[in-house]
Amino acid sequence: MSTSEQIRALEELAAMDAEVKALEEKLAEERGVLNALKESLKRLDERLQIDRATVGAADKQRNDLHLDIRTMTQQIEHSREKLNRSRTERETNAAQRELEELRKLVRDREDEITRLDGDTASVRTAVETTEADHKRVSEELAAKEGDIQAKVTQLEADRTERGGGRDAIVKRLPPVLYRRYEMIRGRRGNAIAQTTDGTCNRCNMALPPQLYHRLRREPLIEQCPSCNRIIYFAATTEAKKVD
Ligand SMILES: [Zn+2]
Repeated sequence: MSTSEQIRALEELAAMDAEVKALEEKLAEERGVLNALKESLKRLDERLQIDRATVGAADKQRNDLHLDIRTMTQQIEHSREKLNRSRTERETNAAQRELEELRKLVRDREDEITRLDGDTASVRTAVETTEADHKRVSEELAAKEGDIQAKVTQLEADRTERGGGRDAIVKRLPPVLYRRYEMIRGRRGNAIAQTTDGTCNRCNMALPPQLYHRLRREPLIEQCPSCNRIIYFAATTEAKKVD
């Protein structure tokens, strides 16, 4: 295992780990979107429940008022017959009073219905709007869930496929070097750095001239004194672009 070969193995390992990390971040992001959608769906459900209860109570009240009106209309018919049958002025007056009284009761209930309709109009509109929102969010959620499930499946397949590949790369590294790689990766997110001009391309700090000189002379694996990442020399043409 020459140092150059170890450097190549480190680079392959770092590239693979970066790719998996990016996939996992993307996945977490997608799951965040999914959770946000579920959250807004829950809020819409709660609002719908409250508004529907309001509308339901109003509908019940409205029905009761209509029933009252129907009963009173029958009573009005009855009073009218009484009026037609009345023979004395006293009977006529009584029937007319009764009729007027009933008509007033009907008007009161009609007014009550109008008031009720006016009061609940905005709630009914709100229910329609919320139902439309609910439908839209549900559809978006269903589409996203399918999409994200496909991504999870793909990621898992990729991991399985690469797991074997990763193990093969790890075998090409001295155990001490691999343990160091994993330790740094755990702390920093990525473990390898390169220098082409005397600075570490990860932390941008200048390396001690002596260290840089040694790194340039022959293939050598060291650690950056500033960020502790595993560092080696790379000629400008082979230096990897890092983010
Ligand atoms: Zn560094």
